[in-house]
Amino acid sequence: MYQKVKGTQDFIGLEAKKLRYVESKIRSVIEKYGYEEIITPIFENTEVFVRSAGEESDIVSKEMYTFSDKGGRSLTLRPEGTAPVVRSFLENKLYAQRNLNKFYYFGPMFRYERPQAGRFREFNQFGIETFGTSSPLLDADVIISGTEIFNALGIKNIKLKINTIGDFPSRTAYAKLLQDYFRNNISSLCRDCNRRLEKNPLRILDCKIDKDNPVLKNAPKIDTVLSDEAKIYFQSVIDILDAYGVNYEVDRNLVRGLDYYTDTVFEYILDSNDELGGLAICAGGKYSDMVKSFKGPDIPGIGYAFGIERIIAIMDLQNLFPALETGADIVLIGLDEKAKEKTLLYANKLRMAGFYAEMDYVNINLKPQFKLSDQLQAKYLIIIGEEELNNKVLTVKNNTTKEQESIPEDRMIDYFKEKIK
Ligand code: ATP
Ligand code: MG
Repeated sequence: MYQKVKGTQDFIGLEAKKLRYVESKIRSVIEKYGYEEIITPIFENTEVFVRSAGEESDIVSKEMYTFSDKGGRSLTLRPEGTAPVVRSFLENKLYAQRNLNKFYYFGPMFRYERPQAGRFREFNQFGIETFGTSSPLLDADVIISGTEIFNALGIKNIKLKINTIGDFPSRTAYAKLLQDYFRNNISSLCRDCNRRLEKNPLRILDCKIDKDNPVLKNAPKIDTVLSDEAKIYFQSVIDILDAYGVNYEVDRNLVRGLDYYTDTVFEYILDSNDELGGLAICAGGKYSDMVKSFKGPDIPGIGYAFGIERIIAIMDLQNLFPALETGADIVLIGLDEKAKEKTLLYANKLRMAGFYAEMDYVNINLKPQFKLSDQLQAKYLIIIGEEELNNKVLTVKNNTTKEQESIPEDRMIDYFKEKIK
């Protein structure tokens, strides 16, 4: 027997409904903010991701599904959503049409990681990207939209962590400060961090292996080298969050693993003691240099990405899904071959009138047909036998009250329109 690939999942019935429910809730919030959907291909030229994430990033160095196609091109299943959106934004010259572009996306991402709770090799993300405006107002608006998405889903115990990694001069000064500090402690850090020391010391703060090492906790903080501009920018973001009443915690150790971030970075984590506690549900930040690094114009951006599987797991834990499985409106029962044919015709008329109607395709005995109606929790039964056929009527049974009545067949649709709202 074949088995699914490690780290992938089947979404069957109710599980698929949960995914779609989360999607549609999020969609209804984010479209109010003026974001437009963008759907990019599942795979891109490998270079798109290498350029955006950087060769030193975890994503590029260990997590990508990269393959050659029959034409010898190196392609990669997208591990994240930002790079494809930037690629499309530039390729289609969307910056020529508007000053500010706001996009959202949904879809599967692929990363070769060790599967565990909330971590898969194929997983779904929802994300937004904006291009064109650098303003603390926009940063705050983006973060508020993230908070409102958690609110709309009813999710509790989420902690928003926020930090600034400064503008380019602050960031460069900070990198130097960290380098000097970590150089003196390098023996206690992992192999990856040893590599990061020269190329990108900020990434050491993001290390999964060394995350509990006191050397990381005690590292110098960015505030000591932040430029005045960067300080004022960050304070403005914070002031707006305060004014709106968003709860957050400034975490001076929070950095994003990727090179192109500047100024505002943030993460929403689950603040709980269960197996999902501490996991990031959403992460994002401002990227001033990303579009430029794609050889595009100097256009700033900010965005975030939510992990949908992690949202579903939390909503299961916190019991937040409404009843998503709806029973059938009507099950049609036919008592002989001719009647069965009729039930199929009626079922389709009912479906086209907006009702969920179902029938058993095989059995003419009552027992299996009643069983189907129980399984589907049908509100009504339509029963058709020889007598009904001859008189052009239907026997209708209300499954709640158990009352039964006979109605002319041409009244069928109107009858159910009255009975089932
Ligand atoms: P983590 O620290 O958990 O590895 P990350 O920093 O790699 O996350 P991002 O690249 O910022 O994550 O992706 C945004 C969100 O996508 C994460 O906050 C998380 O909710 C989700 N996510 C990332 N990787 C996975 C995965 N392998 N399986 C499921 N969800 C994931
Ligand atoms: Mg990761």
